[in-house]
Amino acid sequence: MAKSKVLIVGGTGFIGRRIVKASLAQGHPTSVLQRPEIGLDIDKLQLLLSFKKQGARLIEGSFSNHQSLVNAVKQVDVVICTMSGVHHRGLNILMQLKLVEAIKEAGNIKRFLPSEFGMDPARMGNALEPGNEPFEEKMKVRKAIEDAKIPFTYVSANCFAAFFAGNLAQFGSLVPPRDKVRLWGDGNVKVINLDEDDVATYTIKSIDDPRTLNKTLYFQPPENILSQMEMIEMWEKLIGKKLEKVSISAEDFLASMKGLEHGNKAAAGHYYHIFYEGCLTNFEIGEEGEEASELYPEVNYIRMDAYLERYL
Ligand code: NDP
Repeated sequence: MAKSKVLIVGGTGFIGRRIVKASLAQGHPTSVLQRPEIGLDIDKLQLLLSFKKQGARLIEGSFSNHQSLVNAVKQVDVVICTMSGVHHRGLNILMQLKLVEAIKEAGNIKRFLPSEFGMDPARMGNALEPGNEPFEEKMKVRKAIEDAKIPFTYVSANCFAAFFAGNLAQFGSLVPPRDKVRLWGDGNVKVINLDEDDVATYTIKSIDDPRTLNKTLYFQPPENILSQMEMIEMWEKLIGKKLEKVSISAEDFLASMKGLEHGNKAAAGHYYHIFYEGCLTNFEIGEEGEEASELYPEVNYIRMDAYLERYL
């Protein structure tokens, strides 16, 4: 079977650039949306040009120009949106509704993967404010997709390791501590981290797979289901030193969220659901889902001790 032609929208982003790379590596004819709004952003332009050099096509299109999105979508079979989930510079994830409209009008798309790539928003109905906003927006996008009968796969990628593992889950930092570490509760709640290139590899594997059609694809590689404490022990072994541990109770954590500004408060809420409530691991996958490492056992996913070595 010929490999589907893929369009990546948001291709210069954190996860988007890795998905472009994985799509090319797995032999898909790959296009990336080039938005005129990037203007003088030289780094973005250089990245787009580097995609072209690696074999991708650049297709011009703007969220302010419906016809340009329809034209872009008509040239491919699969659309993957990796638009930012953060509210900034006038962006929110609901902008994807414009893409849904374009896909509906074009009528040729075999699979759409909207920008999800985190916790499953369908399971986050009771999320704390304001961190609930992206989940609610992602659910509105899902509804529009399903109302338009667009074939889909929703990717529930759990934690990108760069945000949650490399820092031993230290909110407000991106590197692991070497002396003192905050433990969320007893640090024993199970969490799932993935190397971002593995997120991209599994995502691209799913796009032509009938088993993931109209399903949620959960990433739960068994050896990466680890507690914060297990991650800390891996790091202690690597640096040959024990860290001082300070346990933060759920009550103290919630109280500390009160003074935070919007963005940090939203992120702290997500930490709470992941590290205290265990929202990534406290459920069984039902009929609505599939698990990536079971579907694609050939992927030799990066283990977290290997991931942590890069911070030495
Ligand atoms: P980024 O913040 O890196 O942004 C991705 C892209 O969004 C940009 O490259 C840009 O596309 C596009 N974009 C930004 N502003 C605009 C705008 N005004 N109009 C149109 N497009 C815009 O995104 P991430 O890679 O961090 O996030 C992608 C997804 O992954 C989100 O759904 C997010 O929730 C999720 N995520 C999950 C994490 C996890 O741990 N599981 C962690 C972080 C994110 P262009 O290339 O066209 O310029």
